[in-house]
Amino acid sequence: MNVIDLTPRGYCHGVLNALAMVKKVIRTESYPRPIYILGQIVHNEKITKAFKEYGVISLDQKGITRLELIEQIDKGTVIFTAHGISKQVIERAKEKGLTCLNATCRDVLKVHKAVESKLSEGYEIIYIGHRNHPEPEAILALDPKIYFVQDEKDALRLPNELSDKKVFVTNQTTLSLYDIESVLKIIESKFPNYLFDNEICSATTVRQQAVMKQEPVDLMLVVGDRLSSNSNKLAFVGSFYQKIESKLISGVEDIDLNWLKDIQSVSVTSGASTPTSVTEEVIQFLKQYNKNDPKTWDHQSHLDILDIL
Ligand code: SF4
Repeated sequence: MNVIDLTPRGYCHGVLNALAMVKKVIRTESYPRPIYILGQIVHNEKITKAFKEYGVISLDQKGITRLELIEQIDKGTVIFTAHGISKQVIERAKEKGLTCLNATCRDVLKVHKAVESKLSEGYEIIYIGHRNHPEPEAILALDPKIYFVQDEKDALRLPNELSDKKVFVTNQTTLSLYDIESVLKIIESKFPNYLFDNEICSATTVRQQAVMKQEPVDLMLVVGDRLSSNSNKLAFVGSFYQKIESKLISGVEDIDLNWLKDIQSVSVTSGASTPTSVTEEVIQFLKQYNKNDPKTWDHQSHLDILDIL
């Protein structure tokens, strides 16, 4: 089997910074206990489990906002995740007397600043992102009048009255370079004078470009969490644009051996929040796999949870 290791892959600077912050709090006894993370520090279940081993509590409930989650904490230290956080949540945490640390990625902060600046200049803001993701949640808290668009249908519903106003369009950092275009085309047809600031971050961009530039393969495996926006987009770019059978897996244990039976080549990439050790285990498994030798079929993970960090 020809195994192609796509690069770049693995942690981006925002994830590295967020993980370093949590590790520092674990090591430093002067930070009040318990240690909470509001959400998952980065979208990777294995990392969340590893931090749990050190007593870190990640509060993450589907459909519950950060502002609601903060009410569940009465003492200790709270770390805000790489995806960004609203001022309202920070203020509430301080009112509650919590020690606060903010791991928001600098690329996400840049979008906050761009939106705040354009709001102060009187622009109407259209923000393209994923519903129920923490990054849009923090942006939309900047002003209730921000228009949120996830797809073409939302774009078509934008009020026509905006055509008389100054319109600023920007986006979530981890979207696909390629599918944002269809939404932008609709926005352009409705508000031709719109101003667009593409905020897809460099880490997301270069990983997607590597997927687009790869030689044809029979299968692409994206190692990443099902909640990770940039990992999902890598699989989407592979399957939709490159027409490569693409699977999102959280680790070697998710590989279905049936996928490998009749193929000659497989490429591997990973999301920006996937531990390198998890991706390496996938690559090593694929390299030694032989469809005729059952001894090479064991695809249980042998990583110690603490090795993940
Ligand atoms: S994927 Fe991009 S925006 Fe998200 S943490 Fe990494 S660098 Fe920051």
